[in-house]
Amino acid sequence: MLTSAVVGALACQVDSYLDTFETVVVSCKPVEFLPVKNGKKSKVIVPTEDAAYEVEFKDTILFPEGGGQPSDHGMILAGGKEIPVLAIRRESLTALHKVQTPLEPDTKVKMELDWKRRFDHMQQHSGQHLVSAILDQMEVPTLSWSLGEKMSYVEIPRKLTEEEVLSVEDRCNNVISQGLDITVEVPDKDLVKKDKLPDDYDQERGILRVVHIGDLDANPCCGTHLKNTKEMNAISLLHQVGIRGANSRLYFLIGDRVRAYAREMNTLTRSLNAKLSCQTEEIETKITKLDSQMRDSYKSEKQWMAEVASLEAARIKTELAECKKVYVYRPEQSTLVYFNMLMAELKLEPGSGVVVLACGTGKTGGALVVIGDNADKVAAEIRDAGVVKELKGGGKGVKWQGKVMAWEKGEPETLSAFVSKL
Ligand SMILES: [Zn+2]
Repeated sequence: MLTSAVVGALACQVDSYLDTFETVVVSCKPVEFLPVKNGKKSKVIVPTEDAAYEVEFKDTILFPEGGGQPSDHGMILAGGKEIPVLAIRRESLTALHKVQTPLEPDTKVKMELDWKRRFDHMQQHSGQHLVSAILDQMEVPTLSWSLGEKMSYVEIPRKLTEEEVLSVEDRCNNVISQGLDITVEVPDKDLVKKDKLPDDYDQERGILRVVHIGDLDANPCCGTHLKNTKEMNAISLLHQVGIRGANSRLYFLIGDRVRAYAREMNTLTRSLNAKLSCQTEEIETKITKLDSQMRDSYKSEKQWMAEVASLEAARIKTELAECKKVYVYRPEQSTLVYFNMLMAELKLEPGSGVVVLACGTGKTGGALVVIGDNADKVAAEIRDAGVVKELKGGGKGVKWQGKVMAWEKGEPETLSAFVSKL
């Protein structure tokens, strides 16, 4: 039986720049889990629905998720097949690769690493060590960190001032340009702080690693790292978000992400320039102005609505006195506010009849409100007769309120005819 390399001394950790590798399958097991039924874990282990397998190789260049760094992506080439690997996890000291195709033990395979993704992770991870090292010099410890898909952050016990953020950013970029070597040391186990290790890590058999950035920093870490700070290219510190009391998450971008972000923000700015017909410096003023204009026009719209509601309520009352039913349809979407004003004005007495209010058009649908005598029964009739096909809602007695999921062509008119025959 083959035995595999332990996490801590995997090929990806010994040489983080390997992007292809030849190895052998040690074991392959179907992924099983205990399904939860009615809140209780079942005692029967079943295979997962996606028929996945976990493969252990003699050694691997695919990094298993750990130390804040997400797992790699890669490809296994075996017997003419290309088998993608999108997740690798550490179980005690073993790296398990999740695949959809089973592999026989002793099979010789070729591994290919998604290098672009990995190099990005190396830039973010080594960069995080650097940001934390500079923060340590200011006696701001890093409590945790997260490598995000777009941005990463370090969680620190207090919010930094704007000047401090700029100073940390300057100092980090200064270290990058100095080109300090990043090296991995496997020290005497007794010298490593045990509190930095995961609880399930086998300290006897496991290999502990300390990552050094020149003489600036030494940190126990299982991740894959760059060889030199120059490969970080640049660090950009972004915003902070308050979390858990006084703690703060300081967001950052490193390496190629800085350029990608600049490009993305420039595209966004250019699009805003075109949409708002203004220069970049004017965007904020323009939006403030538009926002204020919108508030003013909404205020004015509400005043007009109130006046129209009062007039229309009078008309509806006259019509109700004659034929006991009235239908009001408005194609605009925002009519619920208007309908509420109308209902407040109407204050229907029992026996005065029924009013059907509808609004909206097409696929976006709208609202349907029925008020007055037997409102709930009238709504049920509308639904049962299939006058409005996609109708949801509820209510009892004198008020029924519903949502028309979509108006089909001609439905508002059919509804009008239906109400006139009630
Ligand atoms: Zn680390």
